[in-house]
Amino acid sequence: MNYDILIKKAKENSLEGKLLDRETLIALLEIDPDSKAVEKLGESAREVASKFANNKGSVWASIGIDYQPCKMNCSFCSFGVKWGAITNRYQWGVDDIIQYTGKFVSEGAKWVTLRTTECFRTDNLCSLAKKVRSNVLGNYELVANTGELNDEKAKLLYESGFKVVYHSIRLREGIDTPFNVNERCKTLEAVRSSNLTLAYLVEPIGVEHSNEEIADVFLTAMRYGAKLTGAMARVPVSGTPLFKYGALPERRLAQITAVTRLGAGKYAPDICVHPPSKLAMEWGANVVVIETGAIPRDIKNIKNEWGGFDMSTAKKWYEETGYEA
Ligand code: SF4
Repeated sequence: MNYDILIKKAKENSLEGKLLDRETLIALLEIDPDSKAVEKLGESAREVASKFANNKGSVWASIGIDYQPCKMNCSFCSFGVKWGAITNRYQWGVDDIIQYTGKFVSEGAKWVTLRTTECFRTDNLCSLAKKVRSNVLGNYELVANTGELNDEKAKLLYESGFKVVYHSIRLREGIDTPFNVNERCKTLEAVRSSNLTLAYLVEPIGVEHSNEEIADVFLTAMRYGAKLTGAMARVPVSGTPLFKYGALPERRLAQITAVTRLGAGKYAPDICVHPPSKLAMEWGANVVVIETGAIPRDIKNIKNEWGGFDMSTAKKWYEETGYEA
């Protein structure tokens, strides 16, 4: 395969506002992440980011509210009751959530996500959102990352102050998770039928996932109208079944992020990488995540920014990768 031609054509199509097809996505994902060709792919994705993201880097802050054993036992998640990682459950109080939201907003976060487990009641989440919105003023969007939704719940979330919902059909959904793909799709339908915006990353990526699987999950995000997409690597949590595969190399994560940038073009102007990667930012990601609280990639009650990745680091990385932050 002539990768120069493939990448050039993909970039041109992307800049012209065409969604890339499955075959092209797979061909781009087939490039060796350690090759020179993948660097060309990354440069091209960065050019597309300049156009469709207006060269603006943004920060997605996320607060994990409840840390408790979850009976769904997804094979990658530290919350799974079967993996025995959770010894002390906790739930963040309203005051702490307001305080952290205020901190992230004052530092410049564009989005603040309230993330819960499946067990968290939607009415409680709505009540929390109202308190956050009335106490933290500013130019930010509140994001819900919670359990399954129907039309009624989606409407309630919107009326309570949420503007965005994070939801995805995860890689090997129904295999590495007990969820039914059709049920997860109903939530995506409910979001699409509401006033809420969809954010949906290709996740949680491991070394075992094929290019076809990655392309299909990405295309599902596009089919449901995601305005923010990108790539999230699985963080191996000791004790979870998928720990055995180890971590995804950073160049592969950056490559997949670049492919989502080219693939989404104008349709999803915001492309996120998680965990944060400066290389992925150089290759087209314009959104990074700062998170705290209950994190399914960790087993502690995180009280500061996870992994030490805070707003000043994010802004420094944006500066170093040529974005306006
Ligand atoms: S990913 Fe969500 S549903 Fe699955 S075990 Fe973790 S908290 Fe439960």
